[in-house]
Amino acid sequence: MNFAHPFLDGKPKKLMIGGRWVDAASGETFETLNPVNGKVLAQIAMGEAADVDRAVAAARAAFEGAWRKVKPFERQAMILRLAELIEKNFEELSLLDTLEMGAPMKRAIGNRQRALGLLRYYAGQAVSIRGDTLDNSLPGEFLSYTLKEPVGVVAAITPWNGPTVGTLMKLGPVLATGCTMILKPSEEGSLAPLRLAELCLEAGIPEGVYNVITGYGHTAGAALAAHPDVNKISFTGSIPTGQKIAQAATGNLKRVTLELGGKSPDVVFADADLDAAVPGAALGCFANSGQICCAGTRLFVERPIYEEFTHRVAEFGKTLRLGDGLDLETDIGPLVSSKQLERVCSYMDIGREEGAQTISGGARSSQAGHESGNFVPPTVFVDVKNDMRIAQEEIFGPVLSAIPFDDIEEAIALSNQTVFGLGSGLWTRDITKANRMAKALRAGTVWINCYLAIDPAVPFGGVGMSGYGREMGPQHIEDYLELKSVWTRYG
Ligand code: NAD
Repeated sequence: MNFAHPFLDGKPKKLMIGGRWVDAASGETFETLNPVNGKVLAQIAMGEAADVDRAVAAARAAFEGAWRKVKPFERQAMILRLAELIEKNFEELSLLDTLEMGAPMKRAIGNRQRALGLLRYYAGQAVSIRGDTLDNSLPGEFLSYTLKEPVGVVAAITPWNGPTVGTLMKLGPVLATGCTMILKPSEEGSLAPLRLAELCLEAGIPEGVYNVITGYGHTAGAALAAHPDVNKISFTGSIPTGQKIAQAATGNLKRVTLELGGKSPDVVFADADLDAAVPGAALGCFANSGQICCAGTRLFVERPIYEEFTHRVAEFGKTLRLGDGLDLETDIGPLVSSKQLERVCSYMDIGREEGAQTISGGARSSQAGHESGNFVPPTVFVDVKNDMRIAQEEIFGPVLSAIPFDDIEEAIALSNQTVFGLGSGLWTRDITKANRMAKALRAGTVWINCYLAIDPAVPFGGVGMSGYGREMGPQHIEDYLELKSVWTRYG
């Protein structure tokens, strides 16, 4: 594989506004770093409120202009062309993700079908938008029907843990419905979203439909969330930021969807196929170094198999190769930043102070070659109580908290004892137990005898403090559509 990257040409990366690369109004930039060695990858334009104003104006002009007249079949064709271009350039996009946020190339490239599947699914959605003809009971002759119209200018604000796929998740419904978008990517995951802007233009998507304002959350992100000419915010990120965004949106009553954090339970019954459950539970927590919103970080194990199972998961974790994501043998890369490394290490200290014990990992990697990187090996804590901080707070690292339970009622109670409600998993051969659990778990998704299965046709999102709204699935585009009722009196 060729790791030379034409997009990283040493020149500062600019903002994408109205189909053009432009400097930030302030002329300032920030650095994005490689988490493997802390070296600077690129300087990136520091977008702020004035740039947000320009981008919103460009998105509004595109929405009211040429884009409004583009027919569903043409939008579908553009989305499919974009999918083709992404397929052709997928290794390049994956490499940007790997370099900037550390995900192993193996994982980034493995997301190819997911990325393409997303666009192809939304290409189908573009030609499936329809209103209804509704019978009414008014005296006289009235025809009543509904139209579905694009909601307008969408602000998408995203985290760093999957820059390419995370962007496409927002862009798919925007393109399908005829909205326009300003993306504020994470300051730790800006490169692939910027490269995608070039591919959008190459695919024939009109200027101003996809704009990118890079910069910090408290400046660029906050300005976008509060902007009076933005109609909808689609946010993915942490709870504190989600709360600020929900407040900022009240000014002009924007629609908001929030995809926030999690502390997802994964429940293993003694009758489960343990050969499947061990790797399932381990990868459900450790994949992407635990930096997945729905990672199964609270492992509940039925008491008779607790010791055996937790040790098998710990041993499985030790077989995962930790290293530079550019090595195609690497299973787990570094954490995204030194700040994240500090956070994860401090939670491991908290766990020990609370009385839990590690049976694997438990500290920053001391492997030779890892000195300048943010590496943490898969960590399994046992002797955990469900009310400990390591069992209740999102760590966003490869840290599993294992807790025993005695029966299904206790498993349900422990699983639901959380402010979150994003993912959940369970492993059993008993169909009755599986269905009872599926009904009782308070979460947006329940995985039975699997974990992290995700497909564009199936909704994903959370309840409680994990946010509101769903991405993907047949109803997702409704969030991007306004319903208009039309009455005609005739006769
Ligand atoms: P974060 O909340 O710190 O940042 C997310 C985005 O919000 C970034 O682009 C950031 O610049 C921006 N931002 C920060 N402050 C802002 C403000 N005041 N106004 C507007 N925007 C602001 O989250 P993160 O650290 O980048 O990502 C990790 C979090 O994301 C975790 O909590 C994880 O669970 C969550 N996440 C959720 C999902 C999901 O689908 N539910 C998916 C991935 C990540």
